[in-house]
Amino acid sequence: MGRIVEHVNATQVEMDTPYREVVVMHTVRLGRTGLMVSAVGFGGIPIQRLSEAQAIEVVRGCIDLGVTFLDTATGYTTSEERIGRAISGRREGLVIATKSPARDGAGVRDHLALSLQRLRLETIDLFQFHNVSERADFDALFVSGGPFEVICHARDEGVVGHIGFTTHSMEMALRATASGHFETVMFPFNFITEEAADRLIPLALQNDVGFIAMKPMGGGMLEDATLAFKYLRQFSGVVPIVGIEQTTEMEQIVEVMTGPADLTAEEKACMAQLRAELGTRFCRRCDYCQPCPEDIPISTLMTLPSAIKRLPTDSLTNGWVGEAVEQAAHCADCGECELRCPYHLPIRQMMDEHVSVYHHAVGRYGASAAI
Ligand code: SF4
Ligand code: SF4
Repeated sequence: MGRIVEHVNATQVEMDTPYREVVVMHTVRLGRTGLMVSAVGFGGIPIQRLSEAQAIEVVRGCIDLGVTFLDTATGYTTSEERIGRAISGRREGLVIATKSPARDGAGVRDHLALSLQRLRLETIDLFQFHNVSERADFDALFVSGGPFEVICHARDEGVVGHIGFTTHSMEMALRATASGHFETVMFPFNFITEEAADRLIPLALQNDVGFIAMKPMGGGMLEDATLAFKYLRQFSGVVPIVGIEQTTEMEQIVEVMTGPADLTAEEKACMAQLRAELGTRFCRRCDYCQPCPEDIPISTLMTLPSAIKRLPTDSLTNGWVGEAVEQAAHCADCGECELRCPYHLPIRQMMDEHVSVYHHAVGRYGASAAI
């Protein structure tokens, strides 16, 4: 980190010594919700992997850095509970979003009650219908007594502030954005998944629908936060949410968001090179391809080349990478994962390719015998 980054409130600024550099992240209006949220939000997926104490520390650390928008989901196991503990006693000024995958009225009512309990809240600021990827799912939201009606009722009662929509399907995203029913839309957006820039973001702006960018780091495929977030800064009104495991990662992102906005020629060249290297055939680590009947860690294998580049030899031949490669041999070729992948990736073929790359890599390191 090149400089101290501190988020402080206005009172603290006045009381602060003038010698300390103070950087405050700007806020962005989240469409017609009218909510003003920090330019970067906190994504609640990775804290599931941490211990509870670590998770709470990370959430609080991000709030201390000026992050006011926190997103989670009923389906993210411990995430809601941990965020609930982390924000207990410091709710004011935060915008809390969660999601339900239920497609029937009773299911969504249960999820709302569960989310309120886990998050320890009386109101959820933004309640989103999670991963609506098919027309049938979209239509199911609007049946009489169905999910949309239940959440509209909850909004009338003040239990839900605003209603949003999340998807990986461009068709559904466009439909939801134009429908007039949703105040926000969440969709993958980063400099290697740029489809949203053509029609969806302009449509969202036109309809005053808040655009929340999921997967700002390409689902783990992008390692340079500076490039990833400087790219996103070029789009006004877009609010990325990022999943992190350490507060220092958010510090770096906040530094990018509060530093110079313009991309340098060198940064543009770097992005172009990465785009060319990755093409469109890459895994976003969303895990929608799961469950695999053979318990194959598909996203791990789909992103193996990135792990091979990043990890030391020992980590490649021992532990989770080696185990994942061994597990790949049990693929029953059923193809179920490919039917579920929202990006229509040829998973089996790519896993085979990546396992070959892996064997080549560990062979080069002289450790292939260990596999
Ligand atoms: S094709 Fe292989 S990896 Fe995909 S779900 Fe079937 S067993 Fe699992
Ligand atoms: S293979 Fe497809 S569904 Fe599975 S994690 Fe990757 S992008 Fe998601």
